[in-house]
Amino acid sequence: MTTKEEAIATLRYLVANEKHCRTQKDIEMLTICIDSLDKQIPKKPLDVHLDDWTCPNCFSECNADEHRGDDYCPICGQAIDWSAEDE
Ligand SMILES: [Zn+2]
Repeated sequence: MTTKEEAIATLRYLVANEKHCRTQKDIEMLTICIDSLDKQIPKKPLDVHLDDWTCPNCFSECNADEHRGDDYCPICGQAIDWSAEDE
Protein backbone atom coordinates (compact mmCIF):
# COMPACT_ATOMS: atom_id res chain seq x y z
CA MET A 1 0.00 0.00 0.00
CA THR A 2 1.24 3.45 -0.87
CA THR A 3 1.63 5.68 2.15
CA LYS A 4 0.80 9.39 2.06
CA GLU A 5 4.53 10.16 2.35
CA GLU A 6 5.25 7.97 -0.70
CA ALA A 7 2.41 9.56 -2.66
CA ILE A 8 3.78 13.03 -1.87
CA ALA A 9 7.29 11.99 -2.96
CA THR A 10 5.91 10.64 -6.25
CA LEU A 11 3.85 13.77 -6.91
CA ARG A 12 6.89 15.98 -6.17
CA TYR A 13 8.91 13.90 -8.65
CA LEU A 14 6.20 14.44 -11.30
CA VAL A 15 6.16 18.19 -10.68
CA ALA A 16 9.95 18.36 -11.06
CA ASN A 17 10.00 16.28 -14.25
CA GLU A 18 9.04 18.08 -17.45
CA LYS A 19 8.25 14.81 -19.18
CA HIS A 20 5.25 14.28 -16.90
CA CYS A 21 4.33 17.82 -16.02
CA ARG A 22 4.23 20.07 -19.07
CA THR A 23 1.85 22.91 -18.37
CA GLN A 24 1.33 25.40 -15.56
CA LYS A 25 -2.08 23.79 -15.01
CA ASP A 26 -0.44 20.38 -14.44
CA ILE A 27 1.91 21.92 -11.91
CA GLU A 28 -0.94 23.73 -10.11
CA MET A 29 -3.05 20.58 -9.95
CA LEU A 30 -0.24 18.45 -8.56
CA THR A 31 0.74 21.16 -6.09
CA ILE A 32 -2.82 21.22 -4.73
CA CYS A 33 -2.68 17.41 -4.36
CA ILE A 34 0.66 17.63 -2.52
CA ASP A 35 -0.61 20.37 -0.17
CA SER A 36 -3.80 18.55 0.74
CA LEU A 37 -2.02 15.22 1.28
CA ASP A 38 0.64 16.95 3.36
CA LYS A 39 -2.04 18.47 5.64
CA GLN A 40 -3.38 15.00 6.39
CA ILE A 41 -0.06 13.95 7.94
CA PRO A 42 -0.25 15.05 11.60
CA LYS A 43 2.35 17.63 12.65
CA LYS A 44 3.11 18.80 16.14
CA PRO A 45 1.73 22.23 17.14
CA LEU A 46 4.30 25.01 17.63
CA ASP A 47 4.60 27.24 20.69
CA VAL A 48 2.03 25.54 22.90
CA HIS A 49 1.07 27.90 25.72
CA LEU A 50 -1.69 27.72 28.29
CA ASP A 51 -3.99 29.98 26.28
CA ASP A 52 -2.86 29.46 22.68
CA TRP A 53 -0.84 27.33 20.25
CA THR A 54 0.53 27.91 16.78
CA CYS A 55 -0.33 25.86 13.68
CA PRO A 56 2.81 24.28 12.13
CA ASN A 57 1.41 24.86 8.61
CA CYS A 58 -0.25 28.30 8.47
CA PHE A 59 1.34 29.70 11.67
CA SER A 60 -2.03 30.98 12.92
CA GLU A 61 -2.31 31.37 16.67
CA CYS A 62 -5.22 29.27 17.85
CA ASN A 63 -7.13 29.89 21.04
CA ALA A 64 -6.46 26.97 23.38
CA ASP A 65 -9.81 27.28 25.19
CA GLU A 66 -11.68 26.55 21.97
CA HIS A 67 -9.14 24.53 20.01
CA ARG A 68 -6.82 22.74 22.45
CA GLY A 69 -6.48 19.10 21.38
CA ASP A 70 -8.32 19.64 18.10
CA ASP A 71 -7.38 17.05 15.48
CA TYR A 72 -7.16 19.75 12.79
CA CYS A 73 -6.14 23.42 12.61
CA PRO A 74 -9.38 25.47 12.58
CA ILE A 75 -7.84 27.84 9.99
CA CYS A 76 -6.13 25.66 7.35
CA GLY A 77 -7.13 22.07 8.20
CA GLN A 78 -3.61 20.86 9.01
CA ALA A 79 -3.80 17.59 11.03
CA ILE A 80 -2.33 18.22 14.49
CA ASP A 81 -0.34 15.66 16.50
CA TRP A 82 -0.75 16.26 20.23
CA SER A 83 1.00 13.06 21.30
CA ALA A 84 4.12 14.76 22.69
CA GLU A 85 2.03 16.48 25.35
CA ASP A 86 1.52 13.20 27.20
CA GLU A 87 5.23 12.40 27.42
ZN1 LIG B 1 -3.26 26.06 10.19
